[in-house]
Amino acid sequence: MNNTNKRMETIVIHHGYDVGWHFGSLSVPIFQTSTFTFATAEQGEARFAGREDGYIYSRLANPTVRVLEEKMARLEGGEAALAFSSGMAAVSAVLFALTKANDHIICSQGVYGCTFGLLQLLKKKYHVSHDFCAMETEEEIRRLIRPETVCIYVETPINPTMKLIDLQMVVKVAKEHGITVVVDNTFCSPYLQRPLELGCDIVVHSATKYIGGHGDVIAGIAVGKKEWMEEIAKTTQKDIGGVLSPFAAWLLLRGLKTLPVRMDRHCDNAEKIAKRLKAHPLVERVNYPADSDSRDYPIYRKQMKRGGGLISFEVKGTKRDAQRFLNHLQLIQIAVSLGDTETLIQHPATMTHSVVPEEARIKMGISDQLIRLSVGLEAWEDIWDDLEQAFCLLAR
Ligand SMILES: *Cc1c(COP(=O)(O)O)cnc(C)c1O
Repeated sequence: MNNTNKRMETIVIHHGYDVGWHFGSLSVPIFQTSTFTFATAEQGEARFAGREDGYIYSRLANPTVRVLEEKMARLEGGEAALAFSSGMAAVSAVLFALTKANDHIICSQGVYGCTFGLLQLLKKKYHVSHDFCAMETEEEIRRLIRPETVCIYVETPINPTMKLIDLQMVVKVAKEHGITVVVDNTFCSPYLQRPLELGCDIVVHSATKYIGGHGDVIAGIAVGKKEWMEEIAKTTQKDIGGVLSPFAAWLLLRGLKTLPVRMDRHCDNAEKIAKRLKAHPLVERVNYPADSDSRDYPIYRKQMKRGGGLISFEVKGTKRDAQRFLNHLQLIQIAVSLGDTETLIQHPATMTHSVVPEEARIKMGISDQLIRLSVGLEAWEDIWDDLEQAFCLLAR
């Protein structure tokens, strides 16, 4: 089907697959096979030599996974995509492919806890160093650039503080020095933000979150130029081997079909909850990108379509009060992860960011009272009722 001019709502459903390929099957078949047979020894030779297209072995490529990769590339506006067994498999495959010993990475001040862990590992074992940077100004980034700097790694909105980084500003500085810009787009999904269209080079996703959307699969995606994706496919993806299974790919394809519908509802609900949290006497501060009072609002207007489903807020009091608040909730589940149909809540200081040393954690803006809420698809009134009764019990 020619869908070059189609809109995102149509692309998520139709792109990358033609029902004519497999007996008219409406749903993409799950090719649950480890390997693919060759008709002759010569055909095997031709496939290995790259002279003939075709599948060889599912760690190298699989037809179900391929449909997902085609779709994700199109949604992010990139040339090619690769699917991985987890978000961290995608992040690590990209960073290992981009760096060699003595190279240097500049990373946003505030990243996913395990990305922080991976940067420590790269430094300790492979002498790939890094600096964290708030990236509020061009100057701040320029000051950290060295001849060995090969990559600027950005999360925006930053987990869990919801601070935003101006991607066009980062790209401007990076381009002056030929540095590759990698963006973790997990919190937005391509429906809300498309970094490649702003000039960034590689997008990574924890597809576990909004791409899957139903809390039933762990997966990762990387998207970028064909040349780089091919390089990653035949090096760090193939030889480290964190590939996605066909069934997991199918779950993501199923989840993706409703991405725009889900994202709009996540945003509707989160806007209403953020507004009420802001007005609550037991809340110290609320971080939500679409809040027009937020310091980063001008950046939000430049690069995001809507505010997304994540809110973080500080309760008045201590770490103990934050934990008590979580314990009072009934509908909302205490769990890490995000982007699911269920509303989830967690305490970053003791959960997702507990691996970050206290001093670095405070510098990232993650206090003991900070709570992260992933607003789900339930009726917003029910979500709010639950939060409100927990506040009432906290006040007692
Ligand atoms: C969850 C997450 C990751 C890691 O993804 P996994 O699928 O859990 O490996 C990376 N970045 C962000 C922003 C995340 O939320």
